[in-house]
Amino acid sequence: MYEGIVQELIDELGRLPGIGPKSAQRIAFHIVQTETFDVKRLGEILLEVREKVRFCVECGNVSDQDRCNICRDPRRVRNLICVVEEAKDVVAIERTREFRGLYHVLGGAISPIDGVGPDDLRIRELLARLADGTVDEVILATDPNLEGEATATYLSRLLRTIELKVSRLASGLPVGGDLEYADEVTLGRAFEGRRLVEH
Ligand SMILES: [Zn+2]
Repeated sequence: MYEGIVQELIDELGRLPGIGPKSAQRIAFHIVQTETFDVKRLGEILLEVREKVRFCVECGNVSDQDRCNICRDPRRVRNLICVVEEAKDVVAIERTREFRGLYHVLGGAISPIDGVGPDDLRIRELLARLADGTVDEVILATDPNLEGEATATYLSRLLRTIELKVSRLASGLPVGGDLEYADEVTLGRAFEGRRLVEH
C-alpha cells in the first residue's frame, strides 16, 4: 500500500477494464513521475468525453449528436439492421466495408452469471425499430462465445413473430473471442457467408 492519494489513484486505475494491479501501479507512477506527461490534458479529455459523448437515440452507438454518423448517412441501406453487443463492434464491422445497412447496439449480451438478462439490453428498442416493416433482414452479429450465442438464440426466437429474415454471421470467427478481435478479412467473409436462421 502506498500513501493516501497515490494509492487512491492506483485503486481508481485498477477499476478500469483490462488494467490489473501491476499496470495500475505502473500508470500511476508514470503520471506522478514524468514531467512531460500532460496530466492536465488527460484530465480535460476525460471530462470532455464524459460530457459530450452520448448514445445515438436510434441505434445506441456512441455519438456526439442525437443520432450517430451512420444513422444520419443517407447512403446507408435502411432495410437491413446488424445487431451487435457493443459500439466497438460497429467499428470492427465498419472496417470490413462489407456492410451498408444500419446497426443496433444491444449494450451487452445475456449472461446469467453476470446477472444480465434480456431486459437489461436494448431489445425493446430493437422491436420498436422493426415495428413499421421497413426492415426486412436482421443480421445477428453477437460475439462468437457462450453469451453471444445465447443472445442470438434468444433474439432469433423472439423475432419469430415478425415477418423478416434473420441471419447469423458465418462460422470461421475465432470461437470464444470477441468480434472486435477478428481480422477484417475474416469478419468480412463471415458477413458475406451469413446464413439464415431457421426460426
Ligand atoms: Zn445511430
